Amino acid sequence: MSSTTVETSFGERLERRILGTYETGRPGPTMLIQGGIHGNEPAGVHALNRVLERLTSERLEVHGKFVAIAGNLGALERGERFLDRDLNRLWSASTVQHLEAQDPAHDCTEDREQRELISVYQDVQRQARGPVVFIDLHSSSADGPPFTCLADTLANRNIAAAVPVPMILGLEESIDGAVMDYFTYRGLVAFAIEGGRHEEPSTVDNLEAAIWITLVTAGFLEPDQTDLAKHHETLRRSSAGAPPVVEITYRHVLRPTDKFSMQPGFTSFQRVERNSLLAHDHTGPVFAPQGGRILLPLYQGKGEDGFFLCRDVRPFWLGFAKWLRHARLDRFLHWLPGVKRSPDDPNTLVVNPAIARWFVVEIFHLLGFRRRRTVGGRLTFTRRWTEPSAQRAYDQ
Ligand SMILES: [Zn+2]
Repeated sequence: MSSTTVETSFGERLERRILGTYETGRPGPTMLIQGGIHGNEPAGVHALNRVLERLTSERLEVHGKFVAIAGNLGALERGERFLDRDLNRLWSASTVQHLEAQDPAHDCTEDREQRELISVYQDVQRQARGPVVFIDLHSSSADGPPFTCLADTLANRNIAAAVPVPMILGLEESIDGAVMDYFTYRGLVAFAIEGGRHEEPSTVDNLEAAIWITLVTAGFLEPDQTDLAKHHETLRRSSAGAPPVVEITYRHVLRPTDKFSMQPGFTSFQRVERNSLLAHDHTGPVFAPQGGRILLPLYQGKGEDGFFLCRDVRPFWLGFAKWLRHARLDRFLHWLPGVKRSPDDPNTLVVNPAIARWFVVEIFHLLGFRRRRTVGGRLTFTRRWTEPSAQRAYDQ
């Protein structure tokens, strides 16, 4: 499709945005899956088109509704990550409110995209007759295995854990405004999948395999309606040697003036030692501030994150955390010294680090609380909640 300066109507754009929908009248979850919120990541759109093609040609009997959409239409046409602003950093509650209050005459390219996406999301949610599961499909500029990334609720974990690739926890603690936030904030099941490097054909295969597996896990398809063994094999091969679960411990934030340049050859999940040389910027060499595994090293012009560092989480702790949450031990957290409930939000705890012990942060992480911000020397931790219909369906 060629880029054009002629104004296209909302209806025309909606037609291009909705890649397709599929349902056969039976109740079930709404699977809202989006590709290309970053315009240089068309692999997600290709994977969605393949799934739509098979659902339609084989006339599979399904439970619920499949809705495939394209994220940043303008940027996809130009093959760029974004045109004015990164569309995957604009979804915090305050940024969305700001957009809603803004005169559309002042919209930048991504503001317009975001308004249209919000209206699609709202329509989908309004029409849903069961839980809504949202998946955001990505690819990256560096080599590396596919992975899932999610806000840490049990329902999110239960759905995403079925995709046999590494699971990244805590990314939402370091990035504000990813589109998953919009759904998680509303209590819906939401996660992102990174399929691999942008241009690699296997990236489309990985994303497609992850979609099929999730359609089965969410109850949209029966296990025998797709070749599950093949999809598992595809993903297992792509992520061989990678850890099952990691937690983000560091984000290297970039400013446009940084002249950031990653050292060549890093791949996601590669181990790095503390103080090893990772990149250069306008101040000189950039060393690893801590040891761990590197994630999403930046090898493209645009982006706000130079790289992330993460550490392995032993699966035992995930099981233990699940038990803690089912036992509802979280109800007693505010009894710990230095911990108070926030008067404004039942899902937020305020911690005085001068009184609370080091392990408080560890316990909070296990129970799904993530650090949000520091206010007047106090740390606040917020837990994502799950909307009751999603909880009944997936929070087992
Ligand atoms: Zn992306």
